[in-house]
Amino acid sequence: MSEVLIKKSRLSRFGENCFDDTVMRDLLPRDTYKKMKAVISSNEKMDANLATTVAHAMKEWAINKGATHFCHWFQPLTGLTAEKHDAFLEIETDGYVIERFRASQLIQGEPDASSFPSGGTRSTFEARGYTAWDPTSPAFIMESKKGGVLCIPSVFISYNGEALDKKTPLLRSMKAINDSALKILKLFGNTTATSVVSTIGAEQEYFLIDKNYYDKRLDLQLTGRTLFGAMPTKAQQLDDHYFGSIKDRILAYMDDAEIELDKLGIPSKTRHNEVAPNQFEIAPIFNETNIGADRNQITMDIMAKVANRHGLAMLLHEKPFAGINGSGKHNNWSLMDSEGNNLLDPGETPHENMQFLVFLVAVLNAVYEHGGLLRATAASAGNDHRLGGHEAPPAIMSVFLGETLNRVLDAIKKGKTIESNGETFLNLGVDKLPPIIKHNTDRNRTSPFAFTGSKFEFRAVGSRQSVSFPNIVLNATVSDSLDKIYEEISSQMNAGKNLGEAVQTVLQKYIKETEVVRFEGNNYSDEWKTEAANRGLPILPNTGYALDAIVSLKNKKMFLRKEIYTEVELDLFHTAMMEKYISDLEIELATFNNLTNTMILPALQKQIKELIGMVKDLRSIPDLVDSDFSKPFETDLNKILESMKFIKESVAEIHTKLKESREIESLPTRTKFYPDKILGIMAAAREKIDELEEMMPDEIWPLPKYSKMLFNL
Ligand code: ADP
Ligand code: MG
Repeated sequence: MSEVLIKKSRLSRFGENCFDDTVMRDLLPRDTYKKMKAVISSNEKMDANLATTVAHAMKEWAINKGATHFCHWFQPLTGLTAEKHDAFLEIETDGYVIERFRASQLIQGEPDASSFPSGGTRSTFEARGYTAWDPTSPAFIMESKKGGVLCIPSVFISYNGEALDKKTPLLRSMKAINDSALKILKLFGNTTATSVVSTIGAEQEYFLIDKNYYDKRLDLQLTGRTLFGAMPTKAQQLDDHYFGSIKDRILAYMDDAEIELDKLGIPSKTRHNEVAPNQFEIAPIFNETNIGADRNQITMDIMAKVANRHGLAMLLHEKPFAGINGSGKHNNWSLMDSEGNNLLDPGETPHENMQFLVFLVAVLNAVYEHGGLLRATAASAGNDHRLGGHEAPPAIMSVFLGETLNRVLDAIKKGKTIESNGETFLNLGVDKLPPIIKHNTDRNRTSPFAFTGSKFEFRAVGSRQSVSFPNIVLNATVSDSLDKIYEEISSQMNAGKNLGEAVQTVLQKYIKETEVVRFEGNNYSDEWKTEAANRGLPILPNTGYALDAIVSLKNKKMFLRKEIYTEVELDLFHTAMMEKYISDLEIELATFNNLTNTMILPALQKQIKELIGMVKDLRSIPDLVDSDFSKPFETDLNKILESMKFIKESVAEIHTKLKESREIESLPTRTKFYPDKILGIMAAAREKIDELEEMMPDEIWPLPKYSKMLFNL
């Protein structure tokens, strides 16, 4: 592009705050650059000289761009990101102030990490861990008003060497999928691919509301969702928001957010209105999974910050408004080799198709063997409000493949003739497969795990979640399945079969075995629940139950076999997940009680006084003494008083149950106590409060209503 054109285009700013390949090629000596590339692409070891040179270049680059601090940026087990800033400034022994960034500071950091969740196994004296640079994910500068911070993507490890974060196991899972997929490629005669990565593109849904309303809702601030709120008279019945024209205020915000993302080299590709009012989506161009996971975290962060600048609040919770569609994060996942080939792209030749089918069946097998675990990757207090609703995928894991692929698999299973585009193919060997139609048009939006032409779309993931764990599990389980399939094909070949015959036999077996996880129908329907139960699929309606799968014997064995987690790490992680779930609910329940006591009940009392006064006044008018004009007000009064009694009792009951729950020692028992014994009380009390909200004058109701928050932008 010419200079003139580039000036105003996105390209001119793209990646300007990202220490990416282009910057490294520019700033590093040729030798160093080459070595760095080798470290990034093939897991070669980093040496001290290399780190020194890179650290120097990185510092010069960052300071030049106005950065004053650096930080090791990492993802603790809670799923958020953590940063502790250190200044580049140092004072020399002779008193001179200089800007310095040592190789050792690039490579390793020591946050005082005793407060990060660690699954409770570390005593305080050894509660420190260290962060270590992940050179595969580019460093970046987070701009602030007066400067900026150089953020160094890092892993977070305990002194005993256990992973205390989500990136470490994610990187291990990338290695696992690389090793297993390469073996399959070699089997099919590919001698040129040197690596395979999994790729993700996370479509991010979110809500925006005016910041003024957000500031008036403590529930949104503390829990991310509204704990009270009646449905507005207009919600999403008309579906008129979906893909509708984007309003000016929102567009200005989106433009601004995308400029910030561009600078960090995060390519946002599509944006649109979502189904619910004030709900939106942004989707990036896909990326290697470890980079994609970092970038999704950064995207959430940046978009929330920019929203603030625009007087908006970005809501990332999975269900900020009851009764209105929630937000998810469609995790598009695929595999790509070092030559840029998408391994889940059916391809043109029979040979490519055969290889494609092996990868496809490995994914089917992963879902079949580890469906409960996959469900657990999308488990959180927030996402429980979404999964299983009539707008989001259910909590039951099944795979949608589309009509064409189903026909192909069924034909292979039966060893039958396949019809495609009017042509008949004899299925004597897999190498006689028809070219599979690339882009399925028959999408099924109700499926939690759908094949969409050249990738799988895992739709159960929650909007606020980190995508790391879902992808750790996808990489690990698919890798494990590929290993098994590889072994079986090899042993068939050792027994004298040719590749086609061997693949045919093995595919047949797996297609039969995994059939129960294939479902093409309506996942929202009640029939599917019954059918899934008959098929023996795990049905785990909430997080309290779903988290158990993380440490089930079968899943534990798989993680150990694939060297993704050690036993200790897995227990740490499981404990941290349970603790997070419990804390989220404790905060919700406490906030519910608090707001009910301090805002809702006082408002109701006011209204009661109003009504009593009204009835008294009416009765004091001699002409009206015998009329029944005061009746409706007495009815209202009655309803409010009865509801208040119920609400007060509920608050007391929640309080008692919370105490009871704290006495339960076993965490897995405690996580079930909340959904089984407490959440229902809050839900019933809320229902009463929402009913009352509808009969309350606006000036008395203490919280902004849905009708205001959702329709004013
Ligand atoms: P669709 O039409 O299925 O929605 P898009 O091309 O619009 O597909 O992509 C939706 C999301 O899927 C985007 O975030 C995109 O980056 C991601 N995506 C596309 N191809 C891949 C792939 N091979 N691996 C991972 N993610 C992908
Ligand atoms: Mg989508």
